[in-house]
Amino acid sequence: MTALDTDVRSIKGIGEERAKALNKLGITTLSELVSDFPRAYDDRSIIKETDELIVGESVCVVGTVATAPTLSHISRGLDLVKLRVFDARGTMNVTFFNQSYVRNQLHPGESYVFYGRVGGKIGQPEMTNPIFEPEESARVRTGQIVPVYRLTAGLSQNMMINAVKQGLRACGDVLPDPLPNEIKREYQLAQSRFAYENIHFPQSYEALEIARNRLIFEEFFVLSCALERFRAKKTQKTGFAITPAKLDDFKAILPFTLTGAQERAINDIYADMAKPAPMSRLVQGDVGSGKTAVAAAACWNAVSGGYQAAFMAPTEILAEQHYETLGKLLTPLGVRTVLLTGGIGAKARRETLRAIESGEAQLIIGTHALISGDVQYAKLGLVVADEQHRFGVTQRAALTEKGESPHVLVMSATPIPRTLALIVYGDLDVSVLNELPPGRQKVDTFAVNESMRKRINAFIAKQIDAGRQVFIVCPAVEENTEEHTDELKNVKAYTKELKTVFPQYNIGLIHGKMKPKEKNEIMTAFASGEVNILVATTVVEVGVDVPNATLMIVENADRFGLSQLHQLRGRVGRGKEKSYCVLFNSSESDSARERLKAMCDTNDGFRIAEEDLRMRGPGDFFGSRQHGLPEMQIASFATDMELLKKAQTAAKNTLIADPELSNKEHAELKKAVLRLIEKNEGTLN
Ligand code: ADP
Ligand code: MG
Repeated sequence: MTALDTDVRSIKGIGEERAKALNKLGITTLSELVSDFPRAYDDRSIIKETDELIVGESVCVVGTVATAPTLSHISRGLDLVKLRVFDARGTMNVTFFNQSYVRNQLHPGESYVFYGRVGGKIGQPEMTNPIFEPEESARVRTGQIVPVYRLTAGLSQNMMINAVKQGLRACGDVLPDPLPNEIKREYQLAQSRFAYENIHFPQSYEALEIARNRLIFEEFFVLSCALERFRAKKTQKTGFAITPAKLDDFKAILPFTLTGAQERAINDIYADMAKPAPMSRLVQGDVGSGKTAVAAAACWNAVSGGYQAAFMAPTEILAEQHYETLGKLLTPLGVRTVLLTGGIGAKARRETLRAIESGEAQLIIGTHALISGDVQYAKLGLVVADEQHRFGVTQRAALTEKGESPHVLVMSATPIPRTLALIVYGDLDVSVLNELPPGRQKVDTFAVNESMRKRINAFIAKQIDAGRQVFIVCPAVEENTEEHTDELKNVKAYTKELKTVFPQYNIGLIHGKMKPKEKNEIMTAFASGEVNILVATTVVEVGVDVPNATLMIVENADRFGLSQLHQLRGRVGRGKEKSYCVLFNSSESDSARERLKAMCDTNDGFRIAEEDLRMRGPGDFFGSRQHGLPEMQIASFATDMELLKKAQTAAKNTLIADPELSNKEHAELKKAVLRLIEKNEGTLN
């Protein structure tokens, strides 16, 4: 036990109450306290003379109290303390509202440093409610760059500053330092003590930069080591070596010719599955690039090799859809396909489970319950996870416990910037579908406002009269929240109104609160062309393939992220017909306009993701966990890319020299790596 593990209550000024408040921020030990880096800084380093002050600026003034402060009660609930201070160049008036206690803290003849916003006028400067400290004290809040911490009820900045100061004093000599000395030398990184002291209480902006640099590098370095270790581990496990199926047989049943990219991906997969180590491969391709056909080829490879394949879709709708298309597609090859979802009924479920256990069912399609539930496989050789489904350590562990180590194929359209793919998909090998099936046309995209409503309605009619179909997506919050009820009301009213605008058409509504069976009926009706316009709330529900749909309309498009809009747009432009996307903008803001313009300018998912990142910053872009990036404490995946690359190289070299991190020099690093893995269980692959 070192000072680092000491409870925060050991700090002077932190009792039960404050300790509880700190716990809320995830801080119980000194180590956690000193690792709680400031979220911002207040520059209070500029000290000016009274005759240099500019109204409106925030600066420090060193002033001597001229006469005893006066207290006056202006009215009930309003007390004023007034005083005048002077320096060699002039005077300044200071006023405090409702802080009568300061009267006893400011003594005539003594000097204090006041920090605040300058008011009054030229020649008669004043400050209201300044922060002050005796000039002769060990000042922490004035005359320097001051940290700003996250707070919660019961904590104040002042208290945090004092606590962190003490924490650093107690742990200064034992601060965590997972960076090997060699790495620090090579990359010219500061010692941890310097880094910790200056990230909290920077001596200068230069020192702050050096400290940040070191801590960001450290965070990326530990992460990279963790990911590298997963990579190494993976290849040690044994799996099923499957003799590759004949690709020509598969090609023969396809209604189209594979693109070069699809064929390359399939070859990658067959080669992986032929090895005795379990495959971990990601097929990444923009919406509409034909990932399903690649997955089908993989499933058939497993089945023809004598194994079962499980195909997980993110929603029941998509599971149904895959069941329809894949089931039909693979029947000529003799593949027996079953569907396992919540919607199939108890009796059918029992029957299906039995078929899976006996091995009679060869391709099993469903949601993630396929691998986490009570499903017993006869001989599971491949798991495919489609779209938004991440297949992390936890799921893999669940399977291994069942005694299976199947090959894993993940498919994603999430257009994550290339620079980050390595982090998100750390231990996965990647096949990129960088080629769209032939004949695909760009989806023409328009950002419009309400004034265009009539013309758009006419356009809807034109599309439907030409035999096409239309999606209309309304923003909706997550299922099962209270707001959802309101959104649902809105979308129901919206649909009703739409029916009065288009009485001649068949309009369907699909939303998250519907039963699987109802959803399925609507989707089938839309897929068959019976429904002309499909109004949808939840984004996932439209992750579907209806090639006859040529118009995607997004209401309140400003409320969606760019990448989400790109996914939505990907629902059209899947067939031969020219397709369109109309984005209704209900916001006046420049940023909304700029975002929607980016959509109109390009159809390239990668470019859109990079734009998204640039415009919104990492906070929003990575706000939704589906991107799969682990939470970082100080490093940013958006702005610290250079350091990330360096840290990755350093990590690789470190692990080549010491794969198990068993050298004494790497003891701290190993601890940090294990801690990180534990913390990010579900996120890291
Ligand atoms: P996604 O990558 O978004 O999952 P899908 O697999 O759903 O894309 O494919 C989109 C559409 O393109 C489907 O209608 C599919 O039948 C069709 N498709 C896939 N591959 C090809 C190809 N090589 N040639 C022509 N059409 C294809
Ligand atoms: Mg798909």
